[in-house]
Amino acid sequence: MSISTVNPTSGKTEIIIDPHTPSEVDARITEAAAAAEILRNTEFAQRAEWMRAAAAILDDQAEGLGELITIEMGKPIAQSVAEVEKSAKAMRYYAEHSEAFLADVELDDPSTVNASRAWTRYEPLGVVLAVMPWNYPLWQVIRFAAPALMAGNAGLLKHASNVPQAALFLDTLFERAGFPKGSFRTLLIGGNSVASVIADPRVRAVTLTGSEPAGRSVAAVAGDHVKKAVLELGGSDPFIVLPSANVRAAATTAVRARINNNGQSCIAGKRFIVHTDVYDAFAAEFAKQMSELVVGNPLLPETQVGPVATEAGRQDLIDLVEDARERGATILTGGSVPDLPGWFYTPTVIADLPDDARLVQEEAFGPVASLYRATDADDAIRIANQTTFGLSSAVWTEDPAEEAYFVEKLDAGAVFVNGMTISYQELPFGGIKRSGFGRELAAVGQREFCNLKTVWKA
Ligand code: NAP
Repeated sequence: MSISTVNPTSGKTEIIIDPHTPSEVDARITEAAAAAEILRNTEFAQRAEWMRAAAAILDDQAEGLGELITIEMGKPIAQSVAEVEKSAKAMRYYAEHSEAFLADVELDDPSTVNASRAWTRYEPLGVVLAVMPWNYPLWQVIRFAAPALMAGNAGLLKHASNVPQAALFLDTLFERAGFPKGSFRTLLIGGNSVASVIADPRVRAVTLTGSEPAGRSVAAVAGDHVKKAVLELGGSDPFIVLPSANVRAAATTAVRARINNNGQSCIAGKRFIVHTDVYDAFAAEFAKQMSELVVGNPLLPETQVGPVATEAGRQDLIDLVEDARERGATILTGGSVPDLPGWFYTPTVIADLPDDARLVQEEAFGPVASLYRATDADDAIRIANQTTFGLSSAVWTEDPAEEAYFVEKLDAGAVFVNGMTISYQELPFGGIKRSGFGRELAAVGQREFCNLKTVWKA
């Protein structure tokens, strides 16, 4: 894949960028390794000052950066600007909390281990490679970079090939804010050049957010070289509605959960599993609201759904919907390509999916929702847990016993009750099963890229 900006709203190629040569990549790894040595010897207060300065750059440029994000990957402009603001907030959060998150922990009674004192300390690993997706071109990177740099690591970014302008902005951001040269650099390389970077002895760990095939290949290389890996992969999150819930509110939130980011969020509600007693009411309201969404140019403030980010991504969506249609599923709304340039797809709701439809197992990365009728709570859990994914989930109920049952039984990295899944810097984020392993965000996400060193003293 070439490294280029193809505006998904027009389908036009705006910029093509030459990839880095192997010697340019090598020079950047050398710089990062040197920066890592400096960073591990700086105080938290110094790193925090630089991190706050980087956050201020984002705040200052929020409008322009938002526009750049929308041009490169097509999300509605208000969501792009919100992404910039959310990223700046996370940078300030780690500037403020990292010292406490990574503080030494003393063993209360060292005599139990025959010591006068025993404690643990968190130390940076060194250079960490981040392989990142295009769907949140800034937020996905910052939620790695802010905790990693605040812990004293240096970062290398291999961004998705369709967001090179975001990648180039990030290439200089931290240096502009005062961080030592090389603390965070972009590598303009394709996915096929990632293995040699992971293999480089100066690179100590890798984190990937993206699809399952990419995760599998990165984890295999990391395993070969016995290097730490964190994987944040796909999801096909269940959104469950039970009879005690406010069905209308659930339907309204379900629409937001499905179409946020033009439907291209790993933690979007994708499979809507509704108890048979309220199924018809939910289906009617949900399909009505999905059909009324304003689809169009994402730079216009009234637009609610912009294009799919790539032509190939839209084709995947078309294939999933046509497979369901051919197998006898019912299209309640949508299921077509609107008469617009670029890579648009009409917001779609599909019901009556047979078990062999691809949509039952596969992730729909765009504004396509699947509806399932559950006969009771056990049936809802069966449907929810039947995919190979386990990222997040949502359940709508006003019954405390039912809530406890679903919180326990859902096979996922998170459960949101009476709401939709959102990532918060304060909450650990990550999945189980084929949605990956490891966690991002909060204290636990920062500690993923530290050496937890145990110290014992006689
Ligand atoms: P993708 O194709 O896997 O791309 C993600 C990144 O991996 C890109 O930088 C890509 O580079 C790189 N890559 C692709 N194949 C690779 C390989 N074999 N070796 C090394 N790197 C490779 O993912 P996508 O389809 O663009 O993004 C959507 C997916 O990401 C969805 O499945 C979504 O659910 C998931 N996602 C997960 C999370 C989460 O936190 N769990 C968050 C956001 C998105 P190129 O662009 O150069 O191919």
